[in-house]
Amino acid sequence: MSASAPLVRAVLALGSNLGEREDTLSSAVAELTAPDSVRLLRSSPVVATKPVGGPGGQPDFLNMVIEVETSLDPYALLAHCHSVEHSHQRVREVRWGARTLDVDIITYGDLVNDDETLTVPHPRAAQRAFVLHPWRLMDPAATLGGVAVAELAEQAADMADIRELAGPPETD
Ligand code: ATP
Ligand code: MG
Ligand code: MG
Repeated sequence: MSASAPLVRAVLALGSNLGEREDTLSSAVAELTAPDSVRLLRSSPVVATKPVGGPGGQPDFLNMVIEVETSLDPYALLAHCHSVEHSHQRVREVRWGARTLDVDIITYGDLVNDDETLTVPHPRAAQRAFVLHPWRLMDPAATLGGVAVAELAEQAADMADIRELAGPPETD
């Protein structure tokens, strides 16, 4: 009898600033959580944000986060995130450039990992209101590195530029 893989809770951050951004986010959530190995637990509202870093003159982003429960190991989850990016014609040309879809792993359980392929917790999440603000709306009790996500959001330089939209996208 084979042991089943442990289930781990992970927080994923999604962003889009090219194309039909809201449709992209809603179909990405559906694709990310389509396999039996990734179950959607919660999703945040969508927020509109100004681009942080990268070339100037980019369109605004729509951002959201989701919490999933997964039996995938962290590298398999990252590969799955990349495959969903690819299905939305994500092209990597310029660092932090405009993109149809970015899916980052913010946390994977309590795992702390830092290598060329995967760093979790995501090394820049604690400074990014475009991650922290939707995360705290989804989970007011969330913490990152032992600090309340809500508190980190208030301290983030880009917090002033966040705008809340009406509601979460349809996921079907
Ligand atoms: P940022 O990481 O600052 O948000 P980005 O999302 O635009 O930038 P990408 O081009 O999507 O960066 O990814 C660059 C590389 O980051 C990928 O090849 C991936 O392997 C690596 N990476 C390391 N840690 C993570 C993580 N936690 N989530 C997603 N990608 C990661
Ligand atoms: Mg990113
Ligand atoms: Mg990324």
